[in-house]
Amino acid sequence: MTKTYTRDYWESALSALTLEGRNFIGGDYRSAVSGETFTRIRPMDGKPGGTLARGTVADIDLAVASARAAFESGVWRKKDPLEKKKIMLKWAELIRAHGEELAMLETLDVGKPVLASLNVDVRLCADGIQFYGEMIDKMYDEIAPTGPSARALVRKVPLGVIGAITPWNYPMIIDAWKLGPSIAAGNSVVLKPAEQSSLSAIRLASLAVEAGLPAGVFNVVTGYGEEAGKPLALHMDVDMIAFTGSTEVGKLIMGYAAQSNVKRVALELGGKSPLVVFEDADLDAAASAAAWGCFYNSGETCHASTRLLVQRSVQDKLIEKIKAVTASDIALAHPFEPSAQIGALIEEAHMTKVLGMIAAGEKEGARRAFGAEQVLSETGGYYISPGVFVDMTNDMSLARQEIFGPVLAAIPFDTEEEALKLANDTIYGLAGAVFTKDMDRAHRFSEEIHAGTVWINIYDMSNFATPFGGFKQSGFGRDRSVHAIDKYCDYKTIWQQFG
Ligand code: NAP
Repeated sequence: MTKTYTRDYWESALSALTLEGRNFIGGDYRSAVSGETFTRIRPMDGKPGGTLARGTVADIDLAVASARAAFESGVWRKKDPLEKKKIMLKWAELIRAHGEELAMLETLDVGKPVLASLNVDVRLCADGIQFYGEMIDKMYDEIAPTGPSARALVRKVPLGVIGAITPWNYPMIIDAWKLGPSIAAGNSVVLKPAEQSSLSAIRLASLAVEAGLPAGVFNVVTGYGEEAGKPLALHMDVDMIAFTGSTEVGKLIMGYAAQSNVKRVALELGGKSPLVVFEDADLDAAASAAAWGCFYNSGETCHASTRLLVQRSVQDKLIEKIKAVTASDIALAHPFEPSAQIGALIEEAHMTKVLGMIAAGEKEGARRAFGAEQVLSETGGYYISPGVFVDMTNDMSLARQEIFGPVLAAIPFDTEEEALKLANDTIYGLAGAVFTKDMDRAHRFSEEIHAGTVWINIYDMSNFATPFGGFKQSGFGRDRSVHAIDKYCDYKTIWQQFG
């Protein structure tokens, strides 16, 4: 039977919840070496949330030493694959079993509707750990062709210690995208979550140990990017940084790798994805995809469809339909309300930044069709209503910058050539979509959009079997799918000469 959740249910669950904000190192909670903490302000109402350890270089050193010791001991990487698989699957089960608690932690930190946290974020986090757990006893090595006088084993071996640095928009999902393949491959991990969203990461680590993951294989250090993330990326004993976040910080991470030990980096960065609608498209489907593609998670999505390229002849009709879908389907409310489809933005400073970008866009001539205003301010939280701007050109700031708020920029075009040029006229290359009934055009167009994922007549459909990541300044390296394992491994040749 499906459980019915009410706002009262979540309020009383919250009052019974203990918020653990210490680092998790070597299988145990540890306060920051300095003893310092910081307080997270809840985006849903502006009240104090969790108190987190303010990790610095000393905490990173401890966590990396713990991860290194676990790796060198072989306690995880040399374990029987079947045993490793059982532990990963048990971890996934524990995540599901603690779903309501994890959903609450996520919502307290990031302000998204708690039912979205439960039904999307927790589910996909558990599915991700399970996906890679199931791979563990199905990964084969190779024997290279050598002729009969020798045998060359080509072994795929883990790298060692992985530093994972993650953002705040889908914390648990993105953590699982890093943890699943890196741990399944036999590595140890030190995770530095975004300062805004650490609670779920700490709980994931304690559940991993409860599932049987040896102490030290998965460590969490909380804190600020400059104070905890930077020393992790500069650390001489970290073999790779798996980073998801802004392009700006991604560039710094590459620099830190070069300045230290030439560690590898994988970067999942920003986006400004085009959703292209031709006049022959199913406009109802396109309107729904454009609204959900841009406004879900309050627009705080790297691959959000923030640029709507629409054939001029259907622009007005499509905008009307987007307005109607937004009003009827995408309810903005307090995250504990069962009706909420979108909730608060991550923090006050971010809300102010988004409102500033909107104001600057209007000064440049962008015309507001609807929404994009601060709302629910009486709650003390940080909410902006979904909104669309029209009469836009692709060189306006609202069409070029990653806003990370519920703001859609509609840009008209006349021909297919023009649409393609506009679609690719961005520094990013994360995702895109094309809506048309002409399948030749759909395939021609999707081949030519420079993006890691292109959807045809739909937006944001995916599963774990498909790689995810970007071209151009959206980064490199892919999360998800069987291919994600590769970046956490390298090949080692063992040559044996006969006779
Ligand atoms: P961000 O500011 O780049 O931060 C990402 C992570 O880097 C956080 O943990 C942050 O810590 C840390 N950090 C900041 N400065 C650092 C430094 N100097 N050295 C090391 N670490 C540092 O990004 P965000 O605001 O959290 O997330 C939004 C961005 O992520 C958007 O650009 C979005 O497009 C991108 N994103 C991309 C994908 C993808 O798959 N391509 C997915 C989701 C999000 P603090 O929190 O303490 O600053």
